[in-house]
Amino acid sequence: MPTSATTDIALVGAGIMSATLGAILRRLEPDATITVIERLDAVGAESSGPWNNAGTGHAGLCELFYTPQLPDGSIDIAKAVRVNEQFQMTRQFWAYAVQSGLLGQPRDFVQPIPHVSFVHGADGVDYLRRRHHVLADHPLFGGAEFITDFAEFATRLPLMATGRDPEVPVALNWASNGTDVDFGALTKQLIGYGVRHGTTVLFDHEVRTLSREPGGGWALDLRNRRTGQRRRLKAKFVFLGAGGGALGLLQKSGIPEARGFGGFPIGGEFLRCGDPELTGRHRAKVYGAPAAGAPSTTAPHLDTRVVDGASWLLFGPFAGWSPKFLKHGRATDLPRSVRLDNVLSLLGAGVGERQLVGYLIGQLRRSHAARIDELREFIPDARDRDWSAVRAGQRVQVIRRGRLEFDTTIVSAADGSIAGLLGASPGASTAVPAMLEVLTRCFPRRLAQWMPTLREMVPSLGTRLSDEPALFQQVREWSNRQLQLG
Ligand SMILES: Cc1cc2nc3c(=O)[nH]c(=O)nc-3n(C[C@H](O)[C@H](O)[C@H](O)COP(=O)(O)OP(=O)(O)OC[C@H]3O[C@@H](n4cnc5c(N)ncnc54)[C@H](O)[C@@H]3O)c2cc1C
Repeated sequence: MPTSATTDIALVGAGIMSATLGAILRRLEPDATITVIERLDAVGAESSGPWNNAGTGHAGLCELFYTPQLPDGSIDIAKAVRVNEQFQMTRQFWAYAVQSGLLGQPRDFVQPIPHVSFVHGADGVDYLRRRHHVLADHPLFGGAEFITDFAEFATRLPLMATGRDPEVPVALNWASNGTDVDFGALTKQLIGYGVRHGTTVLFDHEVRTLSREPGGGWALDLRNRRTGQRRRLKAKFVFLGAGGGALGLLQKSGIPEARGFGGFPIGGEFLRCGDPELTGRHRAKVYGAPAAGAPSTTAPHLDTRVVDGASWLLFGPFAGWSPKFLKHGRATDLPRSVRLDNVLSLLGAGVGERQLVGYLIGQLRRSHAARIDELREFIPDARDRDWSAVRAGQRVQVIRRGRLEFDTTIVSAADGSIAGLLGASPGASTAVPAMLEVLTRCFPRRLAQWMPTLREMVPSLGTRLSDEPALFQQVREWSNRQLQLG
């Protein structure tokens, strides 16, 4: 193996972000050399793997944390609308990818599953009714049903109704157009498409450092984690799709745009059940409200999951804590991310987020039995023995200006030669708009030439679908047909 090589485009990490960007660039620039560098021995083995995330195609249909109640009692739907707009772009790209043979059978990675919001108690029902009312008039959210009748609840969600006290008011907001996504299978297919068309993937290779080349572009120092061999890869453009590893690499790049950013890792666990008797009685993703003081990403939900053709139930997430920035990372990840330029911001977040820290400590102490008790809010008759714990991926939440952010942030150099993605929420569902943003920032002079192909990939590109209901219907019908979701 040569100790030095060159490539036009280096994609660090073989997760959904690099896979999406790689597939788009492969299509736009068929002759470009593209190299994916992955520190593990497989594609999609960190957060994008099916058991490392919840597989929700986040469209704001059911997640109550995207529609908070404001102090004046009104309901703010702005975030739900933004997330939905982003997911519509992702859906369109997947539809294009299936139509053009870039992806195979849609059922291998996406399933139609109702997205449901669930509340109990009079206050919860009142909130959900008002939320339903506000969203019902919005073009992207029309068609959802509001259900308070217990018999109807029991017909739709038999597993959740059995053993429940019918005297306690419950309500559901039922959106039948939701999805369950196996982002791991999707990542594999997208990387596979690239490899069939000339992309190189270096497994077991870790990017240790990177530096600017005098004549432009970057030199990446790689280490083979199996043999210890070191290599150098020179690239004109670098994308750091390294998940939790992106912050450290951005810091090592020395670009001023990365200064001041910090990261706070939040791990997670789910409870999982594969008993066909139970999976057969629940077919929905049902989201409740997050506990007081808990981060929005830990709102409890009971999900149907389809992985490798088998149906499962997943409940959680339960927050956990470890200083690692990747599930397969190092305990030194957090301390090594502390720099002179972010230490004040990290301290500020530490002081400001005391409630969150308290919540996480409380979660760490929870036993399996306590977690089953939480599950009983959803499945009153849940039995310990039917459920086992699975460790989820690490989310590294962005800390900026002394505050913890629950978003996705793209950091790029002014000359467009390097970009990286930080944060993991709404996450994989927004891979397409996030990667189009990378292209817009890093290749401004190529955009006009690429635009016809980009419009084939995402027909609504440049349009806010909320303002164009007819176009929304058109792209939705087309994407439903291609993805077999209708
Ligand atoms: C508990 C949990 C639940 C979630 N639920 C959802 C959900 O329901 N819906 C949703 O849309 N999103 C969800 N997400 C978010 C989603 O999983 C992530 O946003 C997404 O998978 C991130 O993709 P990525 O490609 O950036 O990173 P990853 O999939 O983590 O991939 C990064 C890759 O980079 C590699 N790497 C790291 N450092 C280096 C290096 N130095 N050299 C070489 N390779 C390197 C890693 O090994 C890894 O393979 C969830 C996340 C978590 C943790």
